[in-house]
Amino acid sequence: MSKKPKPKTVRNGFTPESDSRVRAIVEAVVDGIITIDSQGVIETFNPAAERIFGYDEEEVIGCNVHMLMPSPFREHHDDYLNNYLQTGKAQIIGIGREVLGQRKDGSLFPLDLAVTEMQVEGRRMFTGVVRDISERKASELALQDREARVRAIVDTVVDGIITIDGKGLIDTFNPAAERIFGYAASDVIGSNVSVLMPEPYHSEHDGYLAKFMHTGVAKVIGIGREVTGRRKNGSTFPMELAVSEMTVDGRRMFTGVVRDITERKRMERQKDEFIATVSHELRTPLTAIGGALGLVLGKHGGELPEVVHKMLKVAYRNCDRLTLLINDILEIEKLESGSLKFELEDQDLTTLIQRSLEDHKEFAGKYQVDLHFANPLPKSCVHVDERRIHQVMSNLISNAVKYSPRGGQVDVAISCLKSKLRVHVKDQGKGIPEEFQCRVFDRFSQADSSDTRAQGGTGLGLSIAKAIVEQHGGEIGFTSKANKGTEFFFDLPVRLTPKPLKTSPHPCALVCEMDKDLADLLAKAVQAEGLCCDVASDAASAVRLLSENSYCLLVVDSTMTDDGGFTFLRSLRHVDPASQLPLVAIAEDNYHSEADSRLEIDGVAPLAWLSSTHPKLNEFRAILHRVLLKQTRPSILHVEDDPDLVQIARSVLEEIADIHQAGALEQARRMLQEKSYDLVLLDLELPDGSGAELVDEINTDETPVVIFSSYPATPQLSSKVQATLTKTVADNAKLRMTVRNLLSTQDQAGDFATEANMLPAADVNGLTDSARSAAAGDASQDGH
Ligand code: ADP
Repeated sequence: MSKKPKPKTVRNGFTPESDSRVRAIVEAVVDGIITIDSQGVIETFNPAAERIFGYDEEEVIGCNVHMLMPSPFREHHDDYLNNYLQTGKAQIIGIGREVLGQRKDGSLFPLDLAVTEMQVEGRRMFTGVVRDISERKASELALQDREARVRAIVDTVVDGIITIDGKGLIDTFNPAAERIFGYAASDVIGSNVSVLMPEPYHSEHDGYLAKFMHTGVAKVIGIGREVTGRRKNGSTFPMELAVSEMTVDGRRMFTGVVRDITERKRMERQKDEFIATVSHELRTPLTAIGGALGLVLGKHGGELPEVVHKMLKVAYRNCDRLTLLINDILEIEKLESGSLKFELEDQDLTTLIQRSLEDHKEFAGKYQVDLHFANPLPKSCVHVDERRIHQVMSNLISNAVKYSPRGGQVDVAISCLKSKLRVHVKDQGKGIPEEFQCRVFDRFSQADSSDTRAQGGTGLGLSIAKAIVEQHGGEIGFTSKANKGTEFFFDLPVRLTPKPLKTSPHPCALVCEMDKDLADLLAKAVQAEGLCCDVASDAASAVRLLSENSYCLLVVDSTMTDDGGFTFLRSLRHVDPASQLPLVAIAEDNYHSEADSRLEIDGVAPLAWLSSTHPKLNEFRAILHRVLLKQTRPSILHVEDDPDLVQIARSVLEEIADIHQAGALEQARRMLQEKSYDLVLLDLELPDGSGAELVDEINTDETPVVIFSSYPATPQLSSKVQATLTKTVADNAKLRMTVRNLLSTQDQAGDFATEANMLPAADVNGLTDSARSAAAGDASQDGH
């Protein structure tokens, strides 16, 4: 390498006259800075360049810069520089690019090079800024490698992998998906994923996805299930689909992994058919064996030697087990193939449960377990196959009994969900082991086979129960805690159109009272007012009477089920038509305050409380008058301009009142002049002004006002009305509760003396300011 004499420099080629600040920068900077002259001779070489190339500046200054390049660039560099000087055609100068460098030790590395031209004392010079990008390159390569691997996996995997965006448009479609659906990726990318679904899912998918994006309510996403797919040729097939959500570049995307399970399904069907056939074939010989053994043991058991007798009993018992098993297998096969016909009829669930409990009394007795039905419901009409639901009950009750400790109790109860009734069967056993819980409903699954063998059973009972409940459109589930017990539950859809009730020509009241004298007294008072009266002296007859007749008033002893929990009183709140009826509750003098708060939480809100020790009949008569005279439903004026909100409020309140809507302030004024309302539900932001104006125009002592608006009302405005609710903060239950409480407050205000010879009513039923604020206070906590 030819060396030219060094120009007069100090370290790094700066002359003493150079700006010391510039020198400091050049020396401290992380990028290598190299200056060369027009022949390519290095004039300066900063410390970063020394680090990057491994040379000391003394070793390079005066040398041709091509020493820092590998072949073939090294050989071509002089020509390139000459060419540039003559023609001005640049490949790097003034442009910058990624090139290869060579270190002193001969190793090569990628670098970013930016070269600029300058004039120094009339000479053409070039400055190269060099950045070692080995690490960046290495991570880029690693990333590319990873991407290539992922792509290879996605391209070769047997499952279809499809990604879609938040609108359902297909983004990627791997080769397995092409095979499964018969589409080329190019056919479907950009199309809506619903092309891969048959009806009705095809039409419903956009709505489902939009709802998920909006609410997060998922049917498939994050869950995975068996669905039906549609191929390009229109044929459909069963597939397993697992969808997961991800965020790519800030966009919500979904990945669906699809497996065609046509073959698996076919094999399962074949297996089931085989088992069913074998089981059928086994039935006849088994019946013969069992019959013969039964006869021998029954008729000649006494004549047999003891050891033979013992052996025959073992054979007989196992024959029984085998029969049970075969029957269960056949049953589940029929259920799952859909060949079992259900005879659906309107049934009273309470009666059905009572019958199941009755049937298991003896069985429970053997295990010394007590069966208890917590809350018979007066009207619990479901549309079911009675025999099948009895079978479900039978399985749950017998399991609960079998796994209960001696002396334990099994509680059966009904609760009301929105449009379903839920049956609970709860035991105090040792619970279902956690590791087994996910398999409880699988066929032939038993937690501890030694224990369950001792208990009998096939491990099929719960899978049969699940199939039956699901065929009724319901769900079954359980909760279980070690050594605390297990609670199974199943839901059945409520029958929407109950059987018509027998109607009496006269309005009729039902008095539910165990004390015969008090019952007679109240019945006489009722009859004296021209009403019919039925008397029920226990919860069961009350339930029966309520299911058979229609009443206009209920008078119920709050201790009816005798458990101190107001169970019966509470249960009335959930059942049509009892939930709508005016209710007078009877309680001992010192009972009411506890009752008030507990029942208030449940929304039972009796119209009044009557003392069982000192019933004041004149007040009771006032109630009867009220019931007789005012059989009309209360009416509410809802001042609100948003039709959707009006619709919702109507649905929430329709069971307690008629709703009339005013969409603007003026219209509300007109409607209030034409008719009197029992309550005004008022939005504050109206198209023609503030609802607050209306508050001053309404006599709120006569017509209670509930503000229901997007923004909390001011304290001043709140003090003028009975309740303030904030939209989205107050839920439907709160709205219903507030309105119902205020309407019953109104009832009493209008018709009854305030001086109580009844027990003091729940605060919300009183007339005083404190009562008002109790009704409103509950509500006004919502956001203020
Ligand atoms: P089996 O006929 O064996 O009772 P099931 O399907 O009814 O079959 O129940 C399956 C298994 O679930 C039982 O063997 C038992 O291990 C467990 N199991 C069911 N109910 C209960 C319960 N109430 N408490 C504890 N374990 C239970």
